[in-house]
Amino acid sequence: MIVVFLSPPGSGKGTQCRRLVDFLGVPHLSTGAMLRESVRAGSALGELAAQYIEHGKLVPDAVMVTLVKDRLEAADCESGCLLDGFPRTVNQAIALDEQLHTLRRRVDVVLEMRVSLEELIRRLVERARQEGRQDDSADTVVRRMEVYDSETKPVLEYYRKLNKLVSIDGMGDSDVVFDRIKEQVKQYAGSTVRD
Ligand code: ATP
Ligand code: MG
Repeated sequence: MIVVFLSPPGSGKGTQCRRLVDFLGVPHLSTGAMLRESVRAGSALGELAAQYIEHGKLVPDAVMVTLVKDRLEAADCESGCLLDGFPRTVNQAIALDEQLHTLRRRVDVVLEMRVSLEELIRRLVERARQEGRQDDSADTVVRRMEVYDSETKPVLEYYRKLNKLVSIDGMGDSDVVFDRIKEQVKQYAGSTVRD
């Protein structure tokens, strides 16, 4: 099964995705992690991506679509995958649908976690303190929130119209949030998941 996970910066998306791939037994395709890895490796892609990431901007669609396309066609994704942070624009969503169509596959479900703005800011400030991630500075965080509203919220609408969107309350304890996610995903995963 192919699951798309979209949530605002600081919502705990990365944490919940790691638990969900474990539960589903599918590969984790985190575009944020893939890009940060290229930056660390100093590849051409990394150099390009860094300029966008540092400013809280999105890496251009064409770059992202190619990156994910190659990954999706790898053998380990045959039984499905969890897409974390992709598609983040409607153009990326359309490109993904087209690719999956040619592979005779489709996105099964799109999960969105909802967290109040107050809580998002609180968590990001905390993460900046603990992890010192470059793109967690106050300016960049504000920019990423704006980009989420203007570019990624329309993606949620896109999937809502296709009846694929499931919204989850992302407030509260991480275990409680994960239970909510499991409850929803089970309905789509059929018998393939463990309990
Ligand atoms: P979280 O708080 O859950 O870590 P995040 O907003 O930090 O979420 P990541 O998915 O880790 O997001 O991505 C970090 C950065 O990588 C983004 O701000 C963006 O610059 C770039 N990026 C990641 N995925 C995409 C994508 N699909 N399209 C364009 N840029 C992307
Ligand atoms: Mg992340």
